[in-house]
Amino acid sequence: MGSFSQPKGKTNIGLMGGTFDPIHIGHLVSAEEARQQFNLDYVTFVPAGLPPHKDATGITSPEHRYLMTTLAVMSNPYFKVSRFEIDHPEPSYTLDTIAHFSKGSQASNIFFITGADAIMEITTWKNYRQLLERCVFIAVSRPGYSLSRLWETLGASCAGLTEKIHLLEIPALAISSTFIRERVALGKTIRYLTPEPVEQYIVKHQLYL
Ligand code: NAP
Repeated sequence: MGSFSQPKGKTNIGLMGGTFDPIHIGHLVSAEEARQQFNLDYVTFVPAGLPPHKDATGITSPEHRYLMTTLAVMSNPYFKVSRFEIDHPEPSYTLDTIAHFSKGSQASNIFFITGADAIMEITTWKNYRQLLERCVFIAVSRPGYSLSRLWETLGASCAGLTEKIHLLEIPALAISSTFIRERVALGKTIRYLTPEPVEQYIVKHQLYL
């Protein structure tokens, strides 16, 4: 929504928010594409501890998701992983995360990257208008995702702030965490859908069976 003008003279920090259960190639391609298109200095992956709006039962433990994310990003010098949300027992509100990463860094612009489906519900997030004032959102979508639906849903409720949301269509996001979990449960291969160390971690810890 709106054209993007790059803020100058500041560090541009990307925060990649998600449950990452498990992390996969679609997430990595999205973060790398966002880094390049938005001239981000680096991208920090922030696995959600207890995602708001979600029942924790059925979600893999935060420690497993954190370790898989760490294994997935290790070969990219521009990628980092944060324990900030997984070390907090309360629900992971993005506003608190943004506040944490903005602390003491007046010279930073924050770009929050996550799925367009999640951003579609942003009006239900804690203090969402304040959130939209404090950072830029990068909504990544799968091919075939109806972008007009996102604009229609958000247009009225985010009036005046929609220029803070940018869309990025990522063909590799045809892969989803749900798809990977289902394949593991069926005994099907997930090779190449997620980095090899993550695949080995899933096998070793018998996740998703
Ligand atoms: P989700 O329901 O697990 O995911 C929604 C959709 O977005 C799924 O299709 C998912 O695909 C995709 N997705 C999620 N994270 C992505 C990413 N980083 N890159 C690309 N696609 C992604 O969403 P969630 O993990 O609970 O929430 C996403 C983020 O929003 C988290 O950081 C969460 O803390 C934040 N959030 C904040 C609030 C709040 O502050 N109140 C409320 C809700 C969500 P995959 O399953 O393949 O990942």
